[in-house]
Amino acid sequence: EQEASPTSIDKYGGVENLVIIGSGPAGYTAGIYAGRANLKPVVFEGYQVGGVPGGQLMTTTEVENFPGFPDGITGPDLMDKMRKQAERWGAELYQEDVEFIDVTTSPFTIRSTDREVKCHSVIIATGATAKRLNLPREEEFWSRGISACAICDGASPLFKGQVLAVVGGGDTATEEALYLTKYARHVHLLVRRDQLRASKAMQDRVINNPNVTVHFNTETVDVVSNSKGQMSGVSIRNIDSGEESVLDVKGLFYGIGHSPNSELLAGQVELDSSGYVLVKEGTAETSVQGVFAAGDVQDHEWRQAVTAAGTGCVAALSVERYLASNN
Ligand code: FAD
Repeated sequence: EQEASPTSIDKYGGVENLVIIGSGPAGYTAGIYAGRANLKPVVFEGYQVGGVPGGQLMTTTEVENFPGFPDGITGPDLMDKMRKQAERWGAELYQEDVEFIDVTTSPFTIRSTDREVKCHSVIIATGATAKRLNLPREEEFWSRGISACAICDGASPLFKGQVLAVVGGGDTATEEALYLTKYARHVHLLVRRDQLRASKAMQDRVINNPNVTVHFNTETVDVVSNSKGQMSGVSIRNIDSGEESVLDVKGLFYGIGHSPNSELLAGQVELDSSGYVLVKEGTAETSVQGVFAAGDVQDHEWRQAVTAAGTGCVAALSVERYLASNN
């Protein structure tokens, strides 16, 4: 067990050591590490995803690829365990959304729906939101046929050996389609435009794969179910002819991208053109000293719970070092 850290700054001087914004795997892992370093971090958990803390995994059922759970664990159970572990080490949790931050002057100011906090450092772990198509029956079939993550769900019994569809025409969708061919009987790629936007290499791989059929000029209209209420297909519309038809598929994967939850950060830290927080390669450091980022808000590539947790750890250890060197 760790000793109380000498880096700890007097909490009662009115300035907190650390505010963590976000309650996914990145935020809670940062909370565990910072708590164990005796920094008494303040965590704003937010409630944007489904009105509860815990982030994206609160919207899924089984998580089969988080190490340490050989039989899988449900997303909400996993997040509940992370939350309790952060709390056990002294993280102060507030179920409030942060509405404003100012990191242009030190100490930094963080304002939530209910309070304002001054702090010496910040970890941004606000995550990302998978874009949705907003189909009429989307809510009904979310996690019961519709998925936003082929790596997470492709091998699940629901989809294994089945005919599946992927929506989108960019790199995400083509990667998802190719990934799913490992498990699926066949994959239909539904592309709104008359061409793919993915890189040439990905386009070639998809078009030359006999297990993928690409449907151009195709709009996804809705999910179709059988008499047992299970997904049995998707209705699609040809954009040129307006003709509608039904594709018999047991799963529909969204590959239409993610939006980082970074509106709050505009003008505060550097973002890339898609709104992801820019961190110095191999670190959690943003463009502002004392402000760190972890998880999906700074990761447009891997987007996994374990990578979010890993970067949450890096961010918290970096904060510890930063506070020690500025003390
Ligand atoms: P998130 O989980 O996105 O959490 C961010 C949190 O920050 C949210 O709670 C949000 O409310 C909060 N927040 C945002 N803005 C504010 C604000 N202004 N103030 C306060 N709080 C704020 N990955 C896997 O490894 N395995 C899987 O099986 C798997 N399945 C998935 C299934 C689904 C349906 C989805 C959508 C994703 C899945 N993923 C899976 C991906 C995984 O969920 C993410 O990679 C991971 O959750 C990212 O963690 P994060 O901590 O960066 O952010």
